[in-house]
Amino acid sequence: MKILVPVKRVLDYNVKPRVKADGTGVDLANVKMSMNPFDEIGVEEAIRLKEKGVATEVIAVSVGPAKAQETLRTALAMGADRAILVQTDDAVEPLALAKIFKAIADAEQPGLVILGKQAIDDDNNQTGQMLAALTGWAQGTFASAVNVEGDSVNVTREVDGGLETVKLKLPAIVTTDLRLNEPRYASLPNIMKAKSKPLDTKTPADYGVDTAPRVKVVKVSEPPVRSAGVKVADVDELVAKLKALGVHS
Ligand code: AMP
Repeated sequence: MKILVPVKRVLDYNVKPRVKADGTGVDLANVKMSMNPFDEIGVEEAIRLKEKGVATEVIAVSVGPAKAQETLRTALAMGADRAILVQTDDAVEPLALAKIFKAIADAEQPGLVILGKQAIDDDNNQTGQMLAALTGWAQGTFASAVNVEGDSVNVTREVDGGLETVKLKLPAIVTTDLRLNEPRYASLPNIMKAKSKPLDTKTPADYGVDTAPRVKVVKVSEPPVRSAGVKVADVDELVAKLKALGVHS
């Protein structure tokens, strides 16, 4: 069984985003970019399934600029077997992404597609669900456990107030939640080995997908600045201040 793992290149989660002065978006010039953390979890899960003998091949795919090759090389260094870069300089919306992944799924016939539950830059939380709709495959979103048994997969989902386990017929779509696993770091030898693993470059047109946006970003702005806090000397002063604010126990 093949596993397809979409991985997005995003602003590193440790970097504080700076909004461009003209309010058109986040400034990505000269900032550290990394693999979307939920996608690292997806790569890790796919590799673990390969190590267990459940999967035979792990294919990482990224839609983005030429630099997204670095993200794919990270996936290869973690243990993916080959990669596909669908090169485009413009941001691609979830529906067009899902159409691209559907075309790749048609060509590769994976048993599982493991996506992140969301990309941390746009927080869309849409692509996996749209891919499930386009393929007609079952979906297990927000997965905290994934167990393949024969021709189905049990996915434990993090839902409000607890865990829900669903059984999906393969092929299926899974989206990862934070507690699914702890992704490994790529070792230096594996980083070196990844340089010679196959990486195909395609364009959305190769898959017959029009990526023209349907949504216009009207404005991007910084969150409101929090006002500075006040240090109090002792509990009495704190209680006095709370009383003055009208806070009572
Ligand atoms: P989103 O719907 O944008 O929140 O993204 C959900 C998931 O779709 C991500 O965690 C990735 O697995 C996948 N995805 C989104 N954008 C891309 C992209 N440009 N390239 C590869 N995978 C992507």
